[in-house]
Amino acid sequence: MPELPEVESIRRVLQNSLINQNLQKYKILDNRINRFNNTKPRNLGTLLDISRKGKILQFIFKKNSIFFHLGMSGRLDLNGLKNKHTHGLFFFENDVLLYDDIRKFGYIKILKNEQAKNQFAAIGPDSLSLTKKDKTYVLKKANRSSTSVKNFLLNQKNLSGLGNIYVNEILFLSGVHPLSKTFNLKDQNWNAIFLNTKKVLQKAIKNNGTTLSDMTYILPQGAYGNNQNSLYIYAKDKCFSCTRKIDKILVDSRATYVCKKCQKQIN
Ligand SMILES: [Zn+2]
Repeated sequence: MPELPEVESIRRVLQNSLINQNLQKYKILDNRINRFNNTKPRNLGTLLDISRKGKILQFIFKKNSIFFHLGMSGRLDLNGLKNKHTHGLFFFENDVLLYDDIRKFGYIKILKNEQAKNQFAAIGPDSLSLTKKDKTYVLKKANRSSTSVKNFLLNQKNLSGLGNIYVNEILFLSGVHPLSKTFNLKDQNWNAIFLNTKKVLQKAIKNNGTTLSDMTYILPQGAYGNNQNSLYIYAKDKCFSCTRKIDKILVDSRATYVCKKCQKQIN
């Protein structure tokens, strides 16, 4: 599943290619991908900017915005070939953007700009750029949450952008066992988690995201990410720090990697 670094890497490529181009026409071919749209305005005009919060991209036009959520397997492909998994086509002056999605958990949503604000207000602060105020918000929610810290960090309403790979990395670097109950974490644990969130995400963006062995994540011009070569614990056998064997457990059916020596259960 594309997480914040992958979506941000995609955003940067598209920003460089598509800004200031006129969107001449578009088609959304699949009812499921189109499920949130009541209307589809014909002329959207010039693409002014592409912004992002968490894992959601917003293409901003003068009066409307197009939101893309890539779900589990969505892909934005620039000038590629239409195939049976292509569910959206966006014809810009010089480039064609294709939305491909094998599993169809993603969506394309078109809203008037007045309504667009609500779209981003429904999710927690973006985990790449947490302000002091954002951290206070997260801590307030955390102090009331009896779920595991892993599930807390994955919940997009608490903070947005993190998925399974990067939560594994962040909790390892912070020395926190993923099954620790969220309300038990101390200030020092949160300081470490906030610091490592920034570090892990910035490094992953620098590496253009993580392409795992399933090869589902591909950048819009066909390149793969490189961050899979820089992971500390995700899908590893031995601990990077102490060389002990890594345990693989399931938390809500998601693969979770733990070093019992380096990651403490917080009580
Ligand atoms: Zn270790």
